[in-house]
Amino acid sequence: SRAALFDADSKVKITFNDVAGLEEAKEELQEIVDFLKTPKKYTELGGKIPKGALLVGPPGTGKTLLAKAVAGEASVPFFSLSGSDFVEMFVGVGAARVRDLFKQAKEKAPCIIFIDEIDAVGRSRGRGSMPGANDERENTLNSLLVEMDGFGSDAGIIILAATNRPDVLDPALMRPGRFDRQISVDAPDIVGREAIFKVHMKPLKLSDNIDVKKLATQTPGFAGAEIANVCNEAALLAARRGKLAIDMQDFHDAIDREIGGLEKKNKLIS
Ligand code: ATP
Repeated sequence: SRAALFDADSKVKITFNDVAGLEEAKEELQEIVDFLKTPKKYTELGGKIPKGALLVGPPGTGKTLLAKAVAGEASVPFFSLSGSDFVEMFVGVGAARVRDLFKQAKEKAPCIIFIDEIDAVGRSRGRGSMPGANDERENTLNSLLVEMDGFGSDAGIIILAATNRPDVLDPALMRPGRFDRQISVDAPDIVGREAIFKVHMKPLKLSDNIDVKKLATQTPGFAGAEIANVCNEAALLAARRGKLAIDMQDFHDAIDREIGGLEKKNKLIS
């Protein structure tokens, strides 16, 4: 069925409690939760509810997680797709997908539409790399703009999009009535990393020598995604070592592995 094209989750269980740190982003997104839950409170006074917000920040910092948490907090369905899905698509397919997505969303409203890596479709027009592929990307972008303009601010659809390259986005996307709000989702500082470790340690069996502050100190530059990996890797290492609880040695080795993996990735890029 066409519904399977999108990752439509009608029972999101993630809430703001699952997101460590990022207090300012959560505060701004709480407003959006409120729009979804009690739209009348706003529209009765003549206000226009925003249609979209852009989550801006480096990879792995929790943008997808936050968008899901908005859906979870408001108890509304979550539709998601990634801008990179549209790359290398046949002519017309990208635009048709966008139309399909909005059609389904309108049927399920109130709901959240999440577009990850919006820069892959939303690069400013006429600035692309591959000719041909680029025309199709522009078609997709145009159809996104048309769809966003095509529903009222009282339709109960809020579109969240994520990017780490807001500078390359077509300014048309940021016009009033489109993604006119930007919410920054920054890489965590030491306090943030400690909080993220705590969230991901909750389901783990830990020995009592665990020093979370120390782990936060030893992971400068790590985003939430990397910290989540470290916690899982530490659990797997401890299991392989036949331990009954995860200890600091396992975490240290997991951190070393993660740093090794990151270095490899950087080498491939540069
Ligand atoms: P990308 O730009 O690469 O898509 P993203 O910003 O959308 O990344 P997420 O996919 O939300 O990042 O994060 C990946 C995983 O990292 C999450 O599922 C979660 O397990 C963990 N994570 C990231 N940030 C946080 C955070 N602030 N609190 C708790 N967990 C986090």
